[in-house]
Amino acid sequence: MTSSDRSGAAVADTRLWHPFSDMSAVRRGEFVLTRGEGIWVYDDQGRRYLDGTASLWYANVGHGRKEIAAAVQEQMGKLEAYSAFGDFTTEPAQALAARIAGLAPVADARVFFTTGGGEALDSAAKIARRYWSAKGHPERVHLIGRTGGYHGTNGYGTSIGGIEANRAGFGPLMSQVSSVQWDSLTALEQEILAVGPQKVAAVFAEPVIGAGGVLPPPEGYLEGVQAICEEHGILFVADEVICAFGRLGHWFGSERFGLAPDMITFAKGVTSGYLPLGGVVASGRVAEPFWDEAGNMLRHGATYSAHATCCVAGSANLDLLAQDDVVSRALELESVLLDALKPLAEQSIVHEVRGGVGLLAAVEFTPEALAAGAPGKVFERARERGVIVRALGQGVAVSPPLTIERDEIAFLATAIGEAIEEVG
Ligand code: PLP
Repeated sequence: MTSSDRSGAAVADTRLWHPFSDMSAVRRGEFVLTRGEGIWVYDDQGRRYLDGTASLWYANVGHGRKEIAAAVQEQMGKLEAYSAFGDFTTEPAQALAARIAGLAPVADARVFFTTGGGEALDSAAKIARRYWSAKGHPERVHLIGRTGGYHGTNGYGTSIGGIEANRAGFGPLMSQVSSVQWDSLTALEQEILAVGPQKVAAVFAEPVIGAGGVLPPPEGYLEGVQAICEEHGILFVADEVICAFGRLGHWFGSERFGLAPDMITFAKGVTSGYLPLGGVVASGRVAEPFWDEAGNMLRHGATYSAHATCCVAGSANLDLLAQDDVVSRALELESVLLDALKPLAEQSIVHEVRGGVGLLAAVEFTPEALAAGAPGKVFERARERGVIVRALGQGVAVSPPLTIERDEIAFLATAIGEAIEEVG
């Protein structure tokens, strides 16, 4: 089968099945990127685009950083990886675990590595249930998430996630999982009481909901979630796959709200996406039955856990985040981004502009505009103008590399404004 590419030339039908994509459309023409430099990426026609989304919320230090490439090349030439099962390890894995444990606002932290965010979520969910079983409470299995929450697409993460469309059509998911209204402490308390506090293993929350629409928490909400969990002995898991490593202007988003979760899940920004890596930071409390009791092994983990070259990419990336003050720049720029986008709220198809907590924001459209497919259309029009945004259920989101400059934020906002005007 053939179709045509953007220059009109006939191309073979793609064999690549894209994630979260309408392949009936994508098969007729893919958008091929060939190189990246800082906040810019270039397509196969030589056009450049401002990466307004840091790819999928992850290119925190920007693209094409030679420092990370050099560190990765050196490690690959020395020892690409070795399984961390049993007592095996590598220096890069030890070093990155120690560094993340030192940065995370988690008491007496230990780090369990995965290959991405979804696997981190499933690991945290399994660790939570297994923790309670080890503590003599095997009845504590219930997991609570929130409406609009996104926790990846593995078994537990799909079940805990609160974006209904992502759960539809997969048949029965995990049992003993529920979700509550994303911004209501009352709803959380009622659900815990309805399930029975002694049956709840853990509550999962993103500090700022990302894929569900960029929803910063109401004042005091996350602190309240932590307090409710503490009151009932429930484990509190902060899903920081987006929020960690600078996105909220701190090393971990939890710091911004003064939280000390029992577990933090991370991925994306830990390597800025240069190689796949994720993980769980677990507190001493959670680790204790596994680390202090002989023979109580966590029978969970994957071949590539603590992959040496991925860990080197992580360390080189953290060096860049630290040396260029990238993390504090994100804090400085969050209001610049929101202020640049705010005037778009005047446009007729815009319902609301959200952001201001970290370097991420969303423009939500009116129900009529959503019914007419505004997010996809604005995404297309913005890309024609050389700016990449993300189309979400309610609107479009931006989360640029944290290295973006003020004038580039202005360019981003102008292009989105023009795109909306054209669609509206
Ligand atoms: N958790 C959150 C908050 C996310 O935003 C994502 C991905 O966007 C995930 C988990 C899943 O991560 P991954 O896509 O690496 O599996």
